[in-house]
Amino acid sequence: MVRRAGKEASRLPKKKIGFYWASACGGCEVAVLDIDENILKVAELADIFMWPVAMDYKFSDLEAMKDGEFDAVFFNGAIRNDEEEHLANLFRKKSKVLVAFGACSCFGGIPSLANLYSIGDLLNRAYLEAPSNDNPDKILPQPKFSVEEGEITIPTMYNRVKTLNQVVDVDYYIPGCPPTPEQITDAVLTLLTKEPPEKGHFFAGEKTLCDTCEREKSDKSITEFKRLHLTPPEEIDNTKCLLEQGIICLGPITRSGCDNRCINANMPCRGCFGPAPYVSDMGAKFISALGSIEAADDEETAKKMAEQFYDPAGTLYRFTLSLSLLRGNIKTEERTE
Ligand code: SF4
Ligand code: SF4
Repeated sequence: MVRRAGKEASRLPKKKIGFYWASACGGCEVAVLDIDENILKVAELADIFMWPVAMDYKFSDLEAMKDGEFDAVFFNGAIRNDEEEHLANLFRKKSKVLVAFGACSCFGGIPSLANLYSIGDLLNRAYLEAPSNDNPDKILPQPKFSVEEGEITIPTMYNRVKTLNQVVDVDYYIPGCPPTPEQITDAVLTLLTKEPPEKGHFFAGEKTLCDTCEREKSDKSITEFKRLHLTPPEEIDNTKCLLEQGIICLGPITRSGCDNRCINANMPCRGCFGPAPYVSDMGAKFISALGSIEAADDEETAKKMAEQFYDPAGTLYRFTLSLSLLRGNIKTEERTE
């Protein structure tokens, strides 16, 4: 963890760092504030030159910086449109080290679930069909629009939500939705004060979550899936593995390093730390893992269990659809990327 903060760190020349958000909910930016008093150690070591949630800046400020002027940039959010791709390229150019920060940037995250739909489906839902809309003229956003004063433009949405490393070269990864304060502190201070880790390093665990989970495990097979919010609490033993009790928990295929926060709160893992080191596709791997514990010995039980597995795409790829071998729904000709 952090070893060279405090007096020793204050003798080092100050570095320049930045934070940026693309297609994100803002949670990752706020998570930086959760490092509490450790922000003082960061402030001793570095000046924060860009941080949209906390300070105003203009794209021209970034363009005016020298190439490689940032020592490190922590980029959260997925790439959903041409402006975000442009900014990702610009930050790549201006920074010695580019870090994918949070599940959206590392794996596509929640925004990548939009890859299950076409652009047309998404715009119709958001601007025409949602019950809270008031859009009698059925106006949809246009990338360019001419008014008397000139042309107004907004970013153009891509057909597919991408991870940061699907558009630029990325040095390091901090997974999580959002990352934990301990991870953020470790990553920022390590990159500012120590020998950098090997390129591609994840500031997280190297095992699966199950490997670090202290719940009692057995070789019990399951014959039904339960949905947590529909299951009376007295039917769940909070000392035992949730998956063995029929609650879908992605611990067997998810990277560790979150301090088991959901599991300790009696909630199943949803996979926000992304695939464990040996897993390439979370959905395929989990179905394969289920095969060894599911006891659907006859067709009727198998059918019942398949019906009980609610929203498989949203459950298995909640944070990683951009990374998956499926890459979303290929149903539409609109999809070109
Ligand atoms: S990783 Fe989670 S907290 Fe961070 S921007 Fe994405 S949805 Fe928000
Ligand atoms: S499946 Fe979930 S509850 Fe069971 S051991 Fe793994 S992380 Fe723990």
